[in-house]
Amino acid sequence: MTRTVIRGGLVITAAEETVADVLIEGEQVVALAAGGSQVAEGWSADRVIDASGKYVIPGGVDAHTHMELPFGGTSASDTFESGTRAAAWGGTTTIVDFAVQSVGRSLREGLDAWHAKAEGNCAVDYAFHMIMSDVTGDSLKEMDFLVDEGVTSFKLFMAYPGVFYSDDGKILRAMQQGADNGGLVMMHAENGIAIDVLVEQALASGRTDPRYHGQVRHELLEAEATHRAIRLAEVAGSPLYVVHVSAASALAELTAARDRGLNVFGETCPQYLFLSTDNLAEPGFEGAKYVCSTPLRPQEHQVALWRGLRTNDLQVVSTDHCPFCFSGQKELGRGDFSKIPNGLPGVENRMDLLHQAVVDGRISRRRWVEIASATPARMFGLYPRKGTIAPGADADIVVYDPDATQTLSAATHHMNVDYSAYEGLRVRGKAVTVLSRGTVVVDDDAYLGRPGHGRYQARATCQYLI
Ligand SMILES: [Zn+2]
Repeated sequence: MTRTVIRGGLVITAAEETVADVLIEGEQVVALAAGGSQVAEGWSADRVIDASGKYVIPGGVDAHTHMELPFGGTSASDTFESGTRAAAWGGTTTIVDFAVQSVGRSLREGLDAWHAKAEGNCAVDYAFHMIMSDVTGDSLKEMDFLVDEGVTSFKLFMAYPGVFYSDDGKILRAMQQGADNGGLVMMHAENGIAIDVLVEQALASGRTDPRYHGQVRHELLEAEATHRAIRLAEVAGSPLYVVHVSAASALAELTAARDRGLNVFGETCPQYLFLSTDNLAEPGFEGAKYVCSTPLRPQEHQVALWRGLRTNDLQVVSTDHCPFCFSGQKELGRGDFSKIPNGLPGVENRMDLLHQAVVDGRISRRRWVEIASATPARMFGLYPRKGTIAPGADADIVVYDPDATQTLSAATHHMNVDYSAYEGLRVRGKAVTVLSRGTVVVDDDAYLGRPGHGRYQARATCQYLI
């Protein structure tokens, strides 16, 4: 068994910051000891990683990715192979992707299809949520089996009528099932029926540019759907996790529900924290690069989202990584914003963007680790195997240089997409060495991983429920 010691770094978890050495045997952390102590000095190792002057953090857990997702007549441009490699480069060592149930098909069939796409191809560990597109008596029963085998969260959509959409009755039934079997319902909370009316009206009046995507997906239709989802969950007695919260008014609904003691959780994404409708309005169809749903909001919403992250009304920052190339994919929507495939790349950038928030004084270092790694691991039943550095945890560890600077760019990123949503943005901090279950997969600007190293992770149920 290979013994690795990471020496001299500042070990940061959601709970602690300690200068400590970390001993790894095989795939797991076996001990931490004060740097320079007799115990630590006594450790023999096959490999020593010098982390002095650097942070030693648990690898990122990105709980919202869509590798190879078929959408809008095309497919997300990152495969499980390219997407998990890019994740590793950026210090993310676990992704939770979304398997998709197609209308008229079983959950099982969808899950099997996603296993087939991922198996043998991933650079880092992966797990699945299940998208329920067709709530029926059969698929409700199937939820129980999936929970038992480690797929413990189910995403439903109040948006996208005719594709993923479920009506309130179906949503209620899925929530009741979740209340029973421990499954966590994840909600895309936007009123898609109303949005489709606004889309039709916009297109009919010649408003076809990307920026209208942001206008028709009205903030209040996110807030309304969020409110409705919370009330449905309350009626069902089930927990609720709202994905990609972008509007201040939607966040206010979550805050109010949490203040009432409900098991209601919220996620936001870097694009809502760092980008805005100004990007959607960029001239010459450039705005298409920023089309995602929920949409980017005017800048003042960012203030509310940062505040929500500080006050724990938002608990998780995931990417909703769903890249489409500008050329040939985003371009499908020239002259009709509703045909622009929805999604942004970001799996490689999340840890760095959130570290920049530490540099900027928006969040603490421990909160950085918490929202990017520890909480998503707990939320989706992966903790303490993932999300922390402690004896018994998987040795998913990032040696992070807080003083390195980098400029985010499509010219240097590793995601399989022809643009960066953060092109030219200078950030401080960089993953220098990345270990996935004890194996070094990135070191000093070299990729050392391989497809198939990443293993499927069966998950327990949400660890936050009271
Ligand atoms: Zn998504």
